[in-house]
Amino acid sequence: MPIATAREPIAAAAFTAEQRQYLEGFLAALAHLPFAGHTAGGRITADPHAAPNNLAAPPHEDTYFGTPLSELAKPERWKHEENPLDIWDKILAHAAADKFPDEADAFRFKFFGLFHVAPAQDSFMLRVRIPAGQLTSGQLRGLADLAEEHGGGYAHVTTRANLQLREFRPRSIGEVLTRVQDLGLTSRGAGADNVRNITATPTSGFDAGELLDVRPFAHGLHHYILNQRDLFGLPRKFNVAFDSGGAISAAAATNDLCFTAVRLGAPAMATHSDGTSESVPAGVYFRIQLGGITGHGDFARDAGWLIRPAQAVAVAAAMVRVFSEHGDRTNRKKARLKYLLEKWGMEKFLAETARQLDFRPWPLPAGSVEPRRPVTKHGWLGVHPQRQPGRSYVGVGLSAGHLSAAQMRGLASLAERHGEAELRLTVWQNILLPHVADESVPKLRAELRALGFMLESSPAAGGVISCTGSRGCRYAATDTKAHAAALATALQDRLADLPAPVNIHFTGCPHSCAQHYCGDIGLLGAKLPDGSEGYHIVIGGGMDHEEGIAREIFRSVPAAEIIPLVERILRRYRDLAGEGESFAQWTRRQETERLRKVLT
Ligand code: SF4
Repeated sequence: MPIATAREPIAAAAFTAEQRQYLEGFLAALAHLPFAGHTAGGRITADPHAAPNNLAAPPHEDTYFGTPLSELAKPERWKHEENPLDIWDKILAHAAADKFPDEADAFRFKFFGLFHVAPAQDSFMLRVRIPAGQLTSGQLRGLADLAEEHGGGYAHVTTRANLQLREFRPRSIGEVLTRVQDLGLTSRGAGADNVRNITATPTSGFDAGELLDVRPFAHGLHHYILNQRDLFGLPRKFNVAFDSGGAISAAAATNDLCFTAVRLGAPAMATHSDGTSESVPAGVYFRIQLGGITGHGDFARDAGWLIRPAQAVAVAAAMVRVFSEHGDRTNRKKARLKYLLEKWGMEKFLAETARQLDFRPWPLPAGSVEPRRPVTKHGWLGVHPQRQPGRSYVGVGLSAGHLSAAQMRGLASLAERHGEAELRLTVWQNILLPHVADESVPKLRAELRALGFMLESSPAAGGVISCTGSRGCRYAATDTKAHAAALATALQDRLADLPAPVNIHFTGCPHSCAQHYCGDIGLLGAKLPDGSEGYHIVIGGGMDHEEGIAREIFRSVPAAEIIPLVERILRRYRDLAGEGESFAQWTRRQETERLRKVLT
């Protein structure tokens, strides 16, 4: 029998009638295979024309914290591709090759506190965590050695009371990280999307007016975070502060989360959401505030909770987890806690937090506790009596937070000879030497002056702080540290007759590391149309009992004109304010245009 080939029509082949009938039936069946598929609504259909959707095997995309990978912001993708906590061998390999990291690894290195800060400096900056700002003389001396042997020979105290050491070559980073840990310190989580250095009132433990020594809570949270792998790699950074109610401001309400010690003067009834009530005895507790980010114009808001101090670390841990799981990982500009609170509302955030806790915080309005006592502006400079009789703490002023290695060693030695080998860093970029016997104060003052430190509080110059600026930060529009130091020097011996002290904050870009919106005078760095450096000037901000966001009064002022302009502003304040009226009070009672005229 002849065989039909693929090129021959079947009809042309010499099949028997029976064979032809079989083949035609077979081919007809092939043209109409029984069909089973899925409609767009998810039902199973036998109609091949019913818009088939392959619902049985839907397209699958991996997610990271519930966000599809394709929607993640770039740093989130980097975190997903390689956990930054697992790159120790990579750091050592870069050190061995004396090589800087690529963009993705430069981001991951920040989880170890290492910042490649090119083009500002083609080197690494190391940020060291100093929980509660508490440092031993041995640690300070060890950091001075590191700064001198491997870095630029200096350090900066930051506005989170960290210490930053600069100008490390890649070949040094393995040894630098190891020696920091040998000193009992760590830089882990000091940068990128982590809980940053835990700050606290720097006079904790010796402040005559404090309600609670908050150091144990700051240290407790520090160690908890460091030992919980899931609390690294948040949607963005997360700042936490503990406020003792003491003399010096911890700038607490500028944090994502702050705990403020308060006194409940009389027993109060707390009513939970399920209608049950509890009597809360009088005593000292923490109130909680959430969502501070002053660069975005917001202070932290009271959450309506009162907790026992011993519950603070647990509450912080729960809140950081809620933020980690639900914060925005697609848009870096909306990834801070403030935006989760805006999306959810405070009530939902607290409900999610409460679900993680095995105890119930007490819902009590802020008005049920005694108000915090006012902070002492510029209380971080000069000599102040401690709670311990016969002892004082001495506030040492630094020039825009700068410390040479020689000054670090000098301070360490003075803390050992005149104190208890302990120092405290403040978020005002200076240092306290505590536990000094009163009779040793005159000698200590003379020795501090010989090291080049400022001790006397000047109402005009005693509160000048600055972010890193263009010498060490790629985002900076201006050399903030140089401009701040020059202004402080110019004002130091002038305008001693101001009605009240003022704070002046220099920040080099809108990230606002020096919180320009909370200064009496805030300066935001800007490139002027001709490419030169200048500042936008905001006026009338404040913190604590003066809390408020400053208003922009001057725009694009050349850097060279800053000193005369600030002097003019302060002279107007001195001449026109009421007796004892603070700068914030004086400026806030004036409408913006009028204030601009008065200050021009
Ligand atoms: Fe850098 Fe901007 Fe922060 Fe200043 S405020 S240190 S310029 S990121």
